Amino acid sequence: MAVFDDLIGQDQAVAVLSRAAAAAKEVVEGGRGAGMTHAWLFTGPPGSGREDAARAFAAALLCPDGGCGHCDQCHQVFVGSHPDLESVRPQGLSYSVKQTRELILRAAGAPTQGRWRVILFEDADRATESAANALLKAIEEPPPRTVWLLCAPAPDDMMITIRSRCRVVNLTTPAAEAVAHVLATRDSVPPEVARFAARAAQGHVSRARALALDEGVRRRREAVLSIPRSLTGVGECVSAAERLVKTAEEEAAVATAALNESETAELRKLYGEGSTGKGLNRGLVRGGAGALKELEDRQKSRATRIKRDSLDSALLELVSFYRDVLAMQFGAGVELANDDLRFDLDQLAKASTPEETLRRIDAIMQCRERLAANVNPQMAVEAMMLALRS
Ligand SMILES: [Zn+2]
Repeated sequence: MAVFDDLIGQDQAVAVLSRAAAAAKEVVEGGRGAGMTHAWLFTGPPGSGREDAARAFAAALLCPDGGCGHCDQCHQVFVGSHPDLESVRPQGLSYSVKQTRELILRAAGAPTQGRWRVILFEDADRATESAANALLKAIEEPPPRTVWLLCAPAPDDMMITIRSRCRVVNLTTPAAEAVAHVLATRDSVPPEVARFAARAAQGHVSRARALALDEGVRRRREAVLSIPRSLTGVGECVSAAERLVKTAEEEAAVATAALNESETAELRKLYGEGSTGKGLNRGLVRGGAGALKELEDRQKSRATRIKRDSLDSALLELVSFYRDVLAMQFGAGVELANDDLRFDLDQLAKASTPEETLRRIDAIMQCRERLAANVNPQMAVEAMMLALRS
C-alpha cells in the first residue's frame, strides 16, 4: 500500500503491517479479521522511523482503501488532523499518570468515522511507572475498535507486562544506499550530496534529509567533528566543551522556536485573539491566560528535553568519528561514516593506538550516561574532553 512507501528498507515490518491492515479491513466490513491486534509496539534505533511506521499503519487502518496515501483520510492522518487518530507525544521529560488517564478516557470513545480509534503514543518509554500501569489496564481491556500504537527504542524499554500484550514491530537501521536513493529521487538532492548525507547520518533518515537540505545543520556537524583535532591542551579542552554545549543549545533553540511559535499562535487564535484585532476576546481572557501559562510551562520542559537530545546527538557524532578511526586502525574495509574527513581520521589513526581509541569512545559513552543522570552539561563535557585529549 502507498502509505508504506516511505518506510525505507523495512520490508519485513511492511509485510506484517500490510497483512494486519487487510485483517483490520475485514473486521470493519463485518468479517473475523484474524491477525488484527489491538496493541502494537514499534521499536527500533533512533532514526529508523518508528513514528513514521506507526503513522503509516494508522493511515492504513483509517483509510477506506487500506492506505491509498492520497484520500482525505490518509491526508488527515499525515497532517495530524484526523478525528479518530490521537497522537501523543510527551512534552516534558516524562509522561504523567494524569495525562495517561485523560488519554485512556479519550481512547475509549467510538470511532467517529466508523473504522478505528487509533492512539499513537510516541516515546511511550517516557511514561512514568504509574502512567505505564494505567496504560497497561487500558491495553488489557481494549474497546472493540480501539488500537494502541506505542513507540519506544527497544522492547526492553517497556514494562514486560505491557510488552507481552503488544505485537512488536521491530524496525532496523536502513542502509546508507537506500537512504541516499530516497533523498535523490524524492527530495531532488544531487546524488553526491545525498550519498554524503546518508553516510554521515548513518541510516537516520530525517537526520540525513536535514544534512542534505540545511546548511546550518551541516555547519554544526563540521563544528562538532573539528573538536578531536583541536584538543591540544587543557585550555583548548575547556573551550571545546563550551563550544559543544553552545552548539547543542543553538540547535535546540532553533528547533524549539519553530515549535513554540506555531503552538502559541494557534492557542491565541483559539482564544479569539487576532479575530477582532483587539486582543483576547473578553469572555475568554481568563481561560486564555491560564492556558497560555500552561503552554509556556510545557514548552519550557520540552526545551530542556530538546537541548539534552541535541547534545546527545552531537556526542553520537563524535562516537562515529572515533569509530571510523578505529576501523582505519584495524584496516577494516567498512564504509566510513565521515569519509569527508578522511585526512583527520587518518592522522589520528596513525598517531594513536586502537586501545586509546576505545578508551576515548568509552569516555564519550560515560559522558552520555552522566548527562542522562542530570550532571551539569559543561562539567560532564569538560571531563570528557580531557579524557579525549590524554
Ligand atoms: Zn487513503
